[in-house]
Amino acid sequence: MVTAPYQSTLDQRILNSRQYWQVTFAPPGKEHVQYIKNINVRGLKKTLSGIHCRTFMLSLLAALLAGMVVAAHLGIKEDALRTIERTLDSRNDLARLYFLDQLGKYEVLPETLASSAAVRAALQEPEPAKLHEVNLALAEIAARIGCDRIWVMDLSGKVIADSRWRSLDAILGRNVAYRPYFQDAVEGRTGRFVGIGATSQALGYFLSRPVIIDHRIQGVVALRVSRPFKDFEALLWKDWQAHGKLALVADANGILLMSGLGSWTFKSMLQLDPAQMARMRQSRQYGEHDFTPLGMKTVRPVTADMRFVQFEELPGKTYLQKAYDMREIGGRGYLHADAEDYRARVGIPTGLAALAAAFTFIAVCFLVERWRLQAELLEAAIRDPLTGLYTRLYMQEWLHDAVSAHLRHEERGFSLLLFDIDRFKSINDTYGHLVGDDVLRGVAQLVGSCVRTEDLAVRYGGEEIAVFVRIADPAEIMLLGQRIRAHVEQHGVMTSHGHIRVTVSGGLATHAVGETTAHLFERADKMLYEAKRAGRNRVLSQWE
Ligand code: GH3
Ligand code: MG
Ligand code: MG
Repeated sequence: MVTAPYQSTLDQRILNSRQYWQVTFAPPGKEHVQYIKNINVRGLKKTLSGIHCRTFMLSLLAALLAGMVVAAHLGIKEDALRTIERTLDSRNDLARLYFLDQLGKYEVLPETLASSAAVRAALQEPEPAKLHEVNLALAEIAARIGCDRIWVMDLSGKVIADSRWRSLDAILGRNVAYRPYFQDAVEGRTGRFVGIGATSQALGYFLSRPVIIDHRIQGVVALRVSRPFKDFEALLWKDWQAHGKLALVADANGILLMSGLGSWTFKSMLQLDPAQMARMRQSRQYGEHDFTPLGMKTVRPVTADMRFVQFEELPGKTYLQKAYDMREIGGRGYLHADAEDYRARVGIPTGLAALAAAFTFIAVCFLVERWRLQAELLEAAIRDPLTGLYTRLYMQEWLHDAVSAHLRHEERGFSLLLFDIDRFKSINDTYGHLVGDDVLRGVAQLVGSCVRTEDLAVRYGGEEIAVFVRIADPAEIMLLGQRIRAHVEQHGVMTSHGHIRVTVSGGLATHAVGETTAHLFERADKMLYEAKRAGRNRVLSQWE
């Protein structure tokens, strides 16, 4: 396990050096390339674990926070829409109660009248006496339930009985075959029609049913109510005037029937095609009105029935509009909420979310910076600035753990290899201190490169290097000591003054269970002294 990594100088540096640990990521066969690269980035090791990693992590965090803000924004938008939609829905419920349910009250009346004996008799034999009786009955019913008018037509469309027979606006004898409510009823359907009365010119609701005698349609009964329209229009007007709440009711062709703004009635929400226009004119549904366009612009659709809209006549305002089906009158209702309300509901919480994200990011940056400074300070305390080897401070920590581990587990022994540069003073004297520093740095690198990550190389004194390895076998430790010595001798050091040959002497000692570190050093130092005395450039241990 120990000998394998030390096969060649190059491998040794690659596989065992703490400095070049990145090499483990090199693709097979590319170690040489990676090695050279690592030499270049060696000084950037801190940058790699510090700045690069930090920048990457912070970018990741920024992206994550930005993603969260975007997700929050989408959620907030959805929430705001749902809230506004709920408000509009409850307004719609109220509108139904006031308007459509009112109309519903009249729903069964035509059918009831169509089956009354008096109406049937009058249609079978339209004698004046019978018709008079029907007129009286219709007048009474209309007065009691609040209908504008109830009338009976024969199959040709001629009005034969009218609840308002006595008034100036009586329509007895008039032919209404052109009206859709009549056409629907003679075809057997319930006629439903919103339009203006031919005589009253007021908007009303027409309901009609066929009168069936002996399985054949013999005539039509129709009624017209306008009260719910008037009441509802008044309600919409009040909502608009007092609360700025805009509501529109349009028929199937997009013709506005009611709104809070009286002047909008009979304007068209959509562009009408000529055929549609001609059909409405012919049925005289809305008399002579000419359906000018409303000038409504869709700013942005939201869902199938919701969109942001603007109106030419309400400049500077945008509304969130929701459409509601009003099947009863064959049209649609449109309720509006001020888009400002939506913007406030979205803008404020989104702003807060963005602020929280920015605050989190700044706080994390601050903490990371503090952590980086702490790491740098720690690094400065445990690393010798000249050689890059560990300091005695760190060595004490390491030794404390190693000594107590050895005490607990006998097999976890370790050894000390104490090296001293030979005749270093003469290098200083010959080339100067700066070159001496280069040599010291170079030797430290050469020694350090032979040491594995789990071992420890320390600048012990001026030009003394202590190496601790977790090897307790005398033969193995001697082999390693010799390798380090030979490695230094073989390579020498490249300095500003050129290549300088340099050698080291070493003293080896293996830690005995319970031995103090001072004693261990004493033994190694003794061997080092012996090596010096024996002529230098050699490694000695007690066992030799
Ligand atoms: P020996 O083979 O017996 O060890 O001879 P030596 O000349 O190396 O003797 P010694 O170990 O006593 O000399 C140590 C010298 O190392 C003394 C000191 O000037 C020099 N030294 C210690 N620290 C530094 C340093 O950081 N830079 C430089 N340039 N020289 C240093
Ligand atoms: Mg010395
Ligand atoms: Mg020396």
